[in-house]
Amino acid sequence: MLTNYHTHTLFCDGDHSAEDMVLSAIDKGFCALGFSGHGYTDFDLSYCIKDMPGYISEINRLKDKYKDRIEIYLGLEEDAYCLCDRSKYDYIIGSCHYAKVQDQYYAIDSGAEYFRECLEQFGGDVCKLADNYYGYFVDYILSRKPDIVGHFDLITKFDELGESILLNNPDYNALAEKYMAQAARSGCIFEVNTGAISRKVRTTPYPAANLLQVLKKEGAPITLSSDSHNKDTLDCAFDETRRYLFDLGFRKLYALYDGRFQPFDLI
Ligand SMILES: [Zn+2]
Ligand SMILES: [Zn+2]
Repeated sequence: MLTNYHTHTLFCDGDHSAEDMVLSAIDKGFCALGFSGHGYTDFDLSYCIKDMPGYISEINRLKDKYKDRIEIYLGLEEDAYCLCDRSKYDYIIGSCHYAKVQDQYYAIDSGAEYFRECLEQFGGDVCKLADNYYGYFVDYILSRKPDIVGHFDLITKFDELGESILLNNPDYNALAEKYMAQAARSGCIFEVNTGAISRKVRTTPYPAANLLQVLKKEGAPITLSSDSHNKDTLDCAFDETRRYLFDLGFRKLYALYDGRFQPFDLI
């Protein structure tokens, strides 16, 4: 069953209109498509939605217009540092895109150079950065309980581009696994996100395999998402990721269908 709940459009930093994304999803045989524009962040206006009423009314218009062909859901990708009014949405994805040091927010996914700038705030110590990032994010997950947890280990986004400082670091992995085990007990659904594969910065999805194994061990539910910013990448790497998850022992994916999140066979 083809679905995706992590979708960006021209309302935030996507390449295509919401309607173009719907038409592409129908063309690809999707059963359901959820929109998750970036929630408003007053401290960083570079990629969030500025016209929230326009976004909500357009997704609701599409929901009605295409109701006989595909289920459309109105969601939001909320950043852990700026909470939304979730009553307006069918679901929220809770993500963390920043590390905060004193009053400064450092985007950890905007580019390898921004990531390095952020790392410098921690004296180059990746475990101190990871502790700051996961510590805040996991507190948010446990208290907020978003419907879906977005790209849990986003701080590893650029790790495959140069010399790996995170994914091959045992101290980092032990720390990330500890935080993942805490977060896995939240009852939230965790997304397996192929967005960095479509951006050609990663060969594997978030979260990394060792963190997926923690989710598996804790029995946490997962969903598959493309974090798509373009109508052509709505199902990016879905086939190989399904096989990869199967090999890791997963058998079910959760999907928002018929108005509720429910498990479906992975393959
Ligand atoms: Zn995100
Ligand atoms: Zn996103």
